[in-house]
Amino acid sequence: MAKYRDSGLKLTPQRLAILEHLEGNKDHPSAEDIYKAVSRKFPTMSLATVYNTLATLKQRGLVRELTVDPFKMRFDPETGPHHHFICMDCLKIIDIHTRFKISLPETERAGAQIFGNHVEFYGRCSKCKKRKMKSFTFRKKGERRGKWQRQRNS
Ligand SMILES: [Zn+2]
Ligand SMILES: [Zn+2]
Repeated sequence: MAKYRDSGLKLTPQRLAILEHLEGNKDHPSAEDIYKAVSRKFPTMSLATVYNTLATLKQRGLVRELTVDPFKMRFDPETGPHHHFICMDCLKIIDIHTRFKISLPETERAGAQIFGNHVEFYGRCSKCKKRKMKSFTFRKKGERRGKWQRQRNS
């Protein structure tokens, strides 16, 4: 919370509630997620306040806006360099702290200055993969049982 105070941000009770929800949050929530969670405590909170606060935080570099999720903007209170893995099934975003050695070839850099990079992995998380496997074996068992019943009935 100190970094928010030090930034000279005016901390209204509503802003504070949003910041408290964001601090240490590893879920990479969307504005709607934040609104849903915070409005439980602050029923007068509006989605516009959440959007405005996020815009201010982004401007001050206190929150990172992620475009990894194809459906909605997600927000990350962790602003240090790191990468992301998104599960295409449950849209969970997982932090990747591995440091990859990637650099632009000299010809493409052409005198420009590179500040950083962001790698997006996409696939299926372990939980969703397990669930998929389970439903697959269940279907297979069901098919076999179906055949077996048909044989008995005839
Ligand atoms: Zn998943
Ligand atoms: Zn992150």
